Amino acid sequence: MQKLLIANRGEIACRVMRTARAMGLRTVAVFSEVDGDAPHVRMADQAYLIGPAPAQESYLDMDRILSVAAKSGADAVHPGYGFLSENAVFAERATTAGLTFVGPPAEAIRAMGQKATAKAMMEQAEVPVVPGYHGSEQDPDFLSVEAEKIGYPVLIKAVAGGGGKGMRRVDDPAKFAKALQGARREAQSSFGDDLVLLERYIEKPRHIEIQVFADGHGNVVHLFERDCSLQRRHQKVIEEAPAPGMAPELRARMGEAAVAAARAIGYVGAGTVEFIADVADGLRADGFYFMEMNTRLQVEHPVTEMITGQDLVEWQLRVAAGEALPLAQADIALTGHAMEFRVYAENPARKFLPSTGRLARFRLPAEDRSVRVDSGVAEGGEVTPYYDPMIAKLVVHGEDRRGAIRRAEVALEAFQIAGVTTNLDFLRRVVRHGPFGDADLDTGFIERHAEVLLVPPPAPDARILALSALVGLVERQTEQSVVAGDPHSPWGTADGWRLNDEGHDSFEFLFGEESHMVGVRYRRDGRYELTIGDTPLLATGALTDDGVLTGDLDGERVKAAVAVDGDDLHLLVDGATYRLTRHDPLHGEIEDDIPAASINAPLPGKIVQVLVESGATVKKGDSLLVLEAMKMEHTITAPAEGRVAKVNFSAGDQVDEGDILLAFDDEA
Ligand code: ADP
Repeated sequence: MQKLLIANRGEIACRVMRTARAMGLRTVAVFSEVDGDAPHVRMADQAYLIGPAPAQESYLDMDRILSVAAKSGADAVHPGYGFLSENAVFAERATTAGLTFVGPPAEAIRAMGQKATAKAMMEQAEVPVVPGYHGSEQDPDFLSVEAEKIGYPVLIKAVAGGGGKGMRRVDDPAKFAKALQGARREAQSSFGDDLVLLERYIEKPRHIEIQVFADGHGNVVHLFERDCSLQRRHQKVIEEAPAPGMAPELRARMGEAAVAAARAIGYVGAGTVEFIADVADGLRADGFYFMEMNTRLQVEHPVTEMITGQDLVEWQLRVAAGEALPLAQADIALTGHAMEFRVYAENPARKFLPSTGRLARFRLPAEDRSVRVDSGVAEGGEVTPYYDPMIAKLVVHGEDRRGAIRRAEVALEAFQIAGVTTNLDFLRRVVRHGPFGDADLDTGFIERHAEVLLVPPPAPDARILALSALVGLVERQTEQSVVAGDPHSPWGTADGWRLNDEGHDSFEFLFGEESHMVGVRYRRDGRYELTIGDTPLLATGALTDDGVLTGDLDGERVKAAVAVDGDDLHLLVDGATYRLTRHDPLHGEIEDDIPAASINAPLPGKIVQVLVESGATVKKGDSLLVLEAMKMEHTITAPAEGRVAKVNFSAGDQVDEGDILLAFDDEA
């Protein structure tokens, strides 16, 4: 193996390249039209454009990727996770083309690719599975009878599923048919396959998975467990190892079950066996069930790397090259505690809706032995709606769980990201939340603690407004001295428009709908007297080229990271992100031609279903449209009672963020 093509993008492409390079391999990147400047492209020795932004036409296009492999002289291909990583046809075609596929044999992918077949095989191997229906009969009436037999609540899952897509929890038999339809549609669009299975919904579950590794010489080991119970919308947000409360005997038992599962399908390479544990009565030996096996490297693999000190990508490459596993089971040791935090471009306060935009600022915490950051975007880059909104991962290690949490708190505060809404404030709240510290975990954690965790961004207080005004004042000061060219010129001084008196000025900032005024008096001593509400405040400030503002507010020194993007001002202070819009009256009124009684597309995407017609009367909460964006379906509901005046789009239409999807009658 000499030259590795990475058929992926983002952080995982960068992460794989790092190890490949360290092992002396050359690397080849592929990229879509919107990824030309992406870090994975810059990092690779060679890079090839493979098509337009939509994944179907680029990162999922096997023909293009295989032709790039041939053209570039690559002799091996690593699929990363997602995209083609669990596609048996791709594994086969790569092998036929003479490439080493860094992953399991196609038959193993096939065996585990269908959740239904996998469950049936595990039942045979006497690995416990969640009670449910996983047969081939798909008639809605038949399935609804099966659901009754299982007992509500039930979970509908896409047989080809992954990433929580095509999954619906149903509590009420009357809603079964509609949920089934939604799950099928999402499954069809995400996986090109609408088969589903049904499972009993476990009310207090923990998601615990075992990392396994097998080589081509018959060796199979496990590298302990990861607890991935912290999820939103069935997608992992925080993962950790070891699982809190895991007894050594249970670990051994789950590890053995996972190794047995891998052996049963002739597995080779890195894989993860996922279990769901019913923790209504705590973590128990008879309370865990096989859920599925992921036949690839997982997003959360660094957690395992941190507690074992092993490089799993290196293991993958060695195994793919035909070597034996570097370690035997008895030589794999678990040290300390590790946690991973997924940083997403999304808005937790708005149902975790993905956020897109240009990264006006993107600074990461410093790395050391116990803090690692994997990311695949860079400052100035775009977060587009085409791919997964995960933009970075923070991985921390501590001597124990408390130590890991302490490091996470510090590192999370050090992230500076502006330009897209992120879940960082949310993650910071989670790590400081008591029940998280107490490891009272299950997959319902986030929902249960929503009141504390999912709060809207903080409103700016006097301090934040003062800092915002300082940014403007300091910028103006710099501009003026540049214009004047002569720092001693009377026109170049920063003391405002005045001849004989101290000058006046004011700023207006918009935070959502609210307007905040900051009055400014320029004092002869060079300080600014700021008035916010009724309180005056004496301030000075300095801004580095690097965007760090140091303000002195009545003697208090405050540091803030600043990103200015047009009229938008992003301030990161004490680990919280504030986004304000500068309203310059000279620029005229802020555009406001959007009728109040309308609904805008919250993000760019495709309309998959229109559920109302013009003239329809709707109640608050009624579903109006289904929008597919970032591979997820978002149902748009009526904010209030009203009559629909006009629906502007139909199914299949592409919409941009902010497009008016539908308007209501005014006098409804
Ligand atoms: P995917 O392959 O789409 O990620 P999984 O089958 O791995 O789907 O399940 C994802 C998550 O959904 C699990 O981690 C768990 O939180 C939840 N889940 C899955 N099955 C059940 C179940 N039977 N009862 C309750 N929650 C479940």
